[in-house]
Amino acid sequence: MSLPQFYDQGCLIAVLTTQPLGRALDYRAPEGGCPLGAFVEVPLGPRKVLGVVWGPGKGDYDLSKIRAAYRVLDAAPMREEMRDFLQRAAAYTLTPLPAMLRLATRAPGLGDPPSMRKIYRRGSGLPDKKTAARTKVLEALAHYGDLSFTLKELAEMAGVGPSVIKGLVAQGVVREEDSPRDLPFARLDPNLPGNALTPDQATGATRLAEAVRSERYGTTLLRGVTGSGKTEVYLEAVAAALSAGRQALVLLPEIALTAAFLTRVEARFGARPAEWHSGATMTERRRIWRMVGQGGAQLVIGARSALFLPFQNLGLIVVDEEHDTSYKQEEGVLYNARDMAVLRASIAGCQVVLASATPSLESWANAQAGKYARLELTSRFGPAVLPEMRAIDMRGESLPANRWVSGDLQRAVEARLARDEQSMLFINRRGYAPITLCRACGHQIGCDDCDARMVEHRFLKRLVCHQCGESKPMPTVCPACAAEDRLAPVGPGVERLGEEAALLFPDAKIATLSSDMYGSARALKAEIESIAEGAADIIIGTQLVAKGHNFPKLTLVGVIDADLGLQGSDLRAAERTFQLMRQVAGRAGRAEKPGTALLQTYQPEHPVIRAILAGDEEEFWAAEAREREAAGVPPYGRMAGIILSGTDVAQVFDAGNLLARQDAPLRKIGAQVFGPAPAPIARVRGRHRVRLLVKAEKSAPLQDALARWVGHLRIKGDLRVAVDIDPQSFY
Ligand code: ADP
Ligand code: ZN
Repeated sequence: MSLPQFYDQGCLIAVLTTQPLGRALDYRAPEGGCPLGAFVEVPLGPRKVLGVVWGPGKGDYDLSKIRAAYRVLDAAPMREEMRDFLQRAAAYTLTPLPAMLRLATRAPGLGDPPSMRKIYRRGSGLPDKKTAARTKVLEALAHYGDLSFTLKELAEMAGVGPSVIKGLVAQGVVREEDSPRDLPFARLDPNLPGNALTPDQATGATRLAEAVRSERYGTTLLRGVTGSGKTEVYLEAVAAALSAGRQALVLLPEIALTAAFLTRVEARFGARPAEWHSGATMTERRRIWRMVGQGGAQLVIGARSALFLPFQNLGLIVVDEEHDTSYKQEEGVLYNARDMAVLRASIAGCQVVLASATPSLESWANAQAGKYARLELTSRFGPAVLPEMRAIDMRGESLPANRWVSGDLQRAVEARLARDEQSMLFINRRGYAPITLCRACGHQIGCDDCDARMVEHRFLKRLVCHQCGESKPMPTVCPACAAEDRLAPVGPGVERLGEEAALLFPDAKIATLSSDMYGSARALKAEIESIAEGAADIIIGTQLVAKGHNFPKLTLVGVIDADLGLQGSDLRAAERTFQLMRQVAGRAGRAEKPGTALLQTYQPEHPVIRAILAGDEEEFWAAEAREREAAGVPPYGRMAGIILSGTDVAQVFDAGNLLARQDAPLRKIGAQVFGPAPAPIARVRGRHRVRLLVKAEKSAPLQDALARWVGHLRIKGDLRVAVDIDPQSFY
């Protein structure tokens, strides 16, 4: 059914707001009328709120009470394809539509009139009196030809005070003009010569470019070992989109969004793309949102939420490191940006490239099933070869207490130090020690609000709960038995490993990298860049360093505890360990010198450890796929998690039991319910948590059944229900 595209003043319209109301409300079109999809300001009770014209009004409300929308905002109307996307994403994730709309309007000042600022450029004539300061201003302007600047920029460039410039304005020698604050991004040039591609890369680039030019939906899994040039290849697909006058979006895990990456994109296209991430300022966000909507931004490089920007003419979405778990948003709206990228592209009729060295089993299976095309890059670029991988059998080691670096690993690091090469010691644990134990009474310090141990962060001199983020000063007295000075750290974290390394390698420059040690993402990225340039001999890091960085001098990676991720019952434990280990190992030997990865393990015979070492990825995926298929779990079956939480533990369990008993809607589709069971972390921020798990066949209409099932539940008190479709974590 096609909707009218324009509503004259006074017509009944349905407006969806970002307020949690459940559905669009009827209004009358404002003065001058409004197009379908227009962003409007409407009255809601005593307030003015933002909304989108979603279609004709329903007319099922007292007509005399219907109010008029105040005005149409100065923003490109939301396109049908975007409304469709939000609706289908909401239905898939069982999220109320207003919450979805909030994701799509996350830019400040959407309702503001286009704001202006003063800019300055060369006027005509010469100043009445020539002073040194005035000459500097004129020279600065002459140097930059026809460009214009803000007062502050120009004053800084010329090294004069603003009053000098104002004086020149008064004489017409400098012109002062009004200019919109949000300017389009610099044009990117897809025709600049890129790097000469290897034959493998060229084949891939051609296939992707052709797909983009088809202007049809399609997804390609671009698989290639780290350093094989996946980025080079997908940038050619971006070029094809830009050449066709369409927009492109490259999604990266937040931490991989480095200056080095942006510089590379800039080198390829001659100008900087728009950059959307959590560190962007409000002004930057507003500019990007508006320019994406008006076509003034051709390419956006962004984290997860960039997927909800109002692209007008999207030709390509790249999801780099597509297996990365950070694509799943675990708070608020629970969605997987990779899956939603595929949904958005299928609606917009554009291409998706999923790039990874170690694809998720989901994407691998989709490629196997022929739903995704598949492209392979099999060797590293240039002289770089894949690292040699070996296990260090820790059962034969007799390390002193509180030491984790084996003799073999120590010698390997020493050899790198002697050759002026970098080493990385990897441990996937933040903080100093995972456990703080009282040697007098055996008490382990836990969080007051969560069922979780508190982790000592010596750098911050605090104990931190990794669940809720709560922290407290490191006590000197045991909170249980009051014994003094008997608290001891147990086990290694990244900070403690840094201490050990300082002992073992006293002359080395050691950099310990952990997300919580740097005030901001920017500071951390700056640190990583200086390390890449050689500022450290030994890098100690968590999984943060495993992702996407290029350390040319790095030739050794030592994994302190390769078994860590294999514990626990997560269905993806094997997959995750495999991915992480291959990813970390891939940091080594990315330039001329070959790399080595050493994995310390207590179970060298474990099939996953053996698969990691053997490097036979296809065999690993096939084996893992067989197991999942036999168990009927994703990607061969469907799952959903229900998390009930509240402060009253009995009430939370009652609700869980009730759900488990009244499972008729699920039985109807052949789905099974497991639980309720206390969640692995049974209390977070003072709220008790109970989980149910639903398993269904792949083709079952799961969302409908879940909606009916959970919809029955009467929510009392502060009980909350979250439905997690395709859960990735089970905490
Ligand atoms: P991946 O994304 O697969 O990890 P990259 O695209 O980052 O690989 O390439 C790895 C390194 O090799 C980068 O420094 C890149 O600049 C370089 N490289 C890859 N292909 C080429 C090429 N055809 N010409 C020049 N440099 C290349
Ligand atoms: Zn806590």
